[in-house]
Amino acid sequence: MTPDELRRQLEFYKDLGIQQLYRREPRPVEVAAPLAPVAPLVPVEALPAPPHVEVRPITEPMMDITLPGLAPENDTLERICSDIGDCTRCKLHRGRNKIVFGVGNPATKLVFVGEGPGADEDAQGIPFVGRAGQLLTQMIEGTSAKEGIPLKRADVYICNVVKCRPPENRTPEPDEMEICGQFLFRQLSVLQPKAICALGSTAAKAILGGKDGVTKLRGKWHKWRDIPVIVTYHPSYLLRPYNQDAKREAWEDLKKVLHFVYD
Ligand code: SF4
Repeated sequence: MTPDELRRQLEFYKDLGIQQLYRREPRPVEVAAPLAPVAPLVPVEALPAPPHVEVRPITEPMMDITLPGLAPENDTLERICSDIGDCTRCKLHRGRNKIVFGVGNPATKLVFVGEGPGADEDAQGIPFVGRAGQLLTQMIEGTSAKEGIPLKRADVYICNVVKCRPPENRTPEPDEMEICGQFLFRQLSVLQPKAICALGSTAAKAILGGKDGVTKLRGKWHKWRDIPVIVTYHPSYLLRPYNQDAKREAWEDLKKVLHFVYD
């Protein structure tokens, strides 16, 4: 890579809000061959004087960094999908069954971004198909029907911050979000929706770059680049029986974004 290409690539990461780059995983250590038989000990004074060796300071070797690819001009969802390929860029690849890229209308005005695939999504390769996904579908279709907006789930686009299922459905770790986030940002750049709805704190942190959770961020408009962002609860949180207030607030958030996009 020429210095100019490297500079452009680093500027691109800066635009994406990427703060750190990660080293590749260490290569397997080669096992040393068995030692040759040891020669009998000789007294030190009987050894010849060692030759003079000039000691030079060790210079820091170049960092071996896995640089994600630049967002190419005229990027497309197909190209992003093909760039992901059989991805092993982060440790989440180890336990995945299927990469969950995203689904929906590529000409949509509204994108929903969740955290990462669960067991059902990992099995089918489609985001939000389990219980939380069914609730999201009901929220989208039920709320829009009540508000007089003719909208089906297939009309929006749905994806996640990380494309592979975290083990035991744990929260994705910062390095995983940062590495896989490049694909999310490319998806959003290609889709150019009128608004983005971040589902849950992980999606909000990935998109907005801060540390605040849903309770602090919801109810207000934010921006990713020039695209308005609304933050609301993740449907899996709403499935817990004691979250009645959160359910009401999520419906309010959804109404707000639906009217903004489709009125
Ligand atoms: S989560 Fe993203 S970066 Fe990590 S292995 Fe899967 S596709 Fe690659």
